[in-house]
Amino acid sequence: MFREFLEKELESIEKKHLLRERVILPKGVVDFSSNDYLGLKDCKETKKALREALDNLSLSSGASALMSGYTEVQAQLEEELARLKDSESCLVVGSGYLANVGLIPALAGEGDTILSDQLNHASIIDGIRLSKAKKVIYRHNDLNHLEDLLKRETDARHRFIITDGVFSMEGDIAPLKGIKYLADRYNAVLVVDDAHGTGVIGEGRGSLFHHSVAVDENIIQMGTLSKALGSYGAFICGSKLLIKYLINKMRTQIFSTALSPVQNFISLYNTRLIQKQPFRRERVLDLAEYTVKKAKELGIPLNYHGTPIITLITGTEEKALYLKDRLLERGFFVQAIRPPTVPKNTSRLRITLNYSINRQQIDSMLTALKEIY
Ligand SMILES: *Cc1c(COP(=O)(O)O)cnc(C)c1O
Repeated sequence: MFREFLEKELESIEKKHLLRERVILPKGVVDFSSNDYLGLKDCKETKKALREALDNLSLSSGASALMSGYTEVQAQLEEELARLKDSESCLVVGSGYLANVGLIPALAGEGDTILSDQLNHASIIDGIRLSKAKKVIYRHNDLNHLEDLLKRETDARHRFIITDGVFSMEGDIAPLKGIKYLADRYNAVLVVDDAHGTGVIGEGRGSLFHHSVAVDENIIQMGTLSKALGSYGAFICGSKLLIKYLINKMRTQIFSTALSPVQNFISLYNTRLIQKQPFRRERVLDLAEYTVKKAKELGIPLNYHGTPIITLITGTEEKALYLKDRLLERGFFVQAIRPPTVPKNTSRLRITLNYSINRQQIDSMLTALKEIY
């Protein structure tokens, strides 16, 4: 029976300590798991601007962008994002997940090879699965391995290298200078998913800018509007030609309703705001550094790579869950990350900093963590 199948599957997940549940965070709990790095999800300035603009905004786009759902506010948002990413052109789509599962099959097909970092985001993995291209996984951030694999793919029609800019569950930054060098040398197109880099590193412009890699027509930058930009939706930046092609070929753009003008207004307002308020990203990076320094004094071995994503590897699922539950009892939400989100035996607490957290809250969280750990 189907019902028994569902029960058995869930039982087996629970036995392995892998059951997941959604929680509504009680008021007063300090959130160390949000991707709202710049503290924009409750930004008073944005709310005020939205209230003033609301009478002139439709609540829904009403159709896909190719029907009648494309709006002035989306065109302005695309222009602003293209400028931020130093690209010719930009396409805004429904979400980061939709961007990757649409972009990758539109770019690559039979006869092509995609070289993908071992720790890339699930939406990239799903995008590759949907394409008919050959998938080749390289060891995390390993340029030597990537080069060895590129050498073997000379028969491919096109080669694509796809990587997260900042890895969502590690917090480390892809070595994009080296990767771009290899991409040029082996005639590959580089696709960077900068969901966690945008707004935070490289003066807010992302991972390529952090590494001073110049954007050219063989680089495609993808990012989400739902993390540092405090809104919802995603974008792909590239050449004019590429964007024209994607408008015609990317199925998640063609067959899905365009984002609401209300949402796009928030994205546009915040994209401008983060450029006018560099103190937001400076503060979150400073808080991350402070957290690691404090943890070191307390003897807690955190992994830190210069981004607001910091990890404490526990290995086992039980230990990660135990720490998460005890911290929540004390008023701190730090999510336990377990397989399949991360590889086996690397379960962890993932601490993310954001603009709304203060040093005192970090001190209290770390003191609690030390007691439990
Ligand atoms: C969050 C994330 C996505 C998905 O973006 P959404 O807008 O939340 O769908 C894609 N890639 C990476 C690396 C992410 O961290």
